[in-house]
Amino acid sequence: MGREQRCRAVFLDRDNTLIANDGDLGDPDAVRLIDGVAPVLARLAKAQWRLVVVSNQGGVARGKFTEADVEAVNGRLADLLDEQSGIRGLIDRFYWCPFHPEGTVERYCHEHPWRKPRSGMLVQAGRDLGVDLDRSWIVGDQPRDVAAGRAAGCATILVSIDPAAIEAAQPTDVVTTLAEAAEIILCRR
Ligand SMILES: [Mg+2]
Repeated sequence: MGREQRCRAVFLDRDNTLIANDGDLGDPDAVRLIDGVAPVLARLAKAQWRLVVVSNQGGVARGKFTEADVEAVNGRLADLLDEQSGIRGLIDRFYWCPFHPEGTVERYCHEHPWRKPRSGMLVQAGRDLGVDLDRSWIVGDQPRDVAAGRAAGCATILVSIDPAAIEAAQPTDVVTTLAEAAEIILCRR
């Protein structure tokens, strides 16, 4: 595939970037979008950015919920975004990693190349969707999101007001809302 045919993506962390989740969320009925997320993502999609969610779900390894629960939560998130944006299939694809080296469910208790801060989910999306990673961005609320994006060759935005997180992450940019992140991405194409 030639470079001119490849697409650009914004990789999006899920928990506390798109939805509020301070615990182990396995219940689709408890999915709450962060205010303003749907119209912001719609703006990016209309500017030809592919939108790809990349999420660590170590709660599967810790026995808090199942892979099916993760799929249900992702499905609910997708439905809410589609409803609120008016765009069907706003999120191009969800990638998530159920593994954690300190889990309690044996088959998931190991490190994995998909687990952020590793870049495996982004690299896989690059292959699956023809994403040009070095023209793409990652947006997340944790240093591991920034590290995963950097390892994949993407520009990075940390959504945070935590000085320790900002210092640890060393992102390309720091913002306090997803809307600010989108402004940066749309201005620096
Ligand atoms: Mg997060």
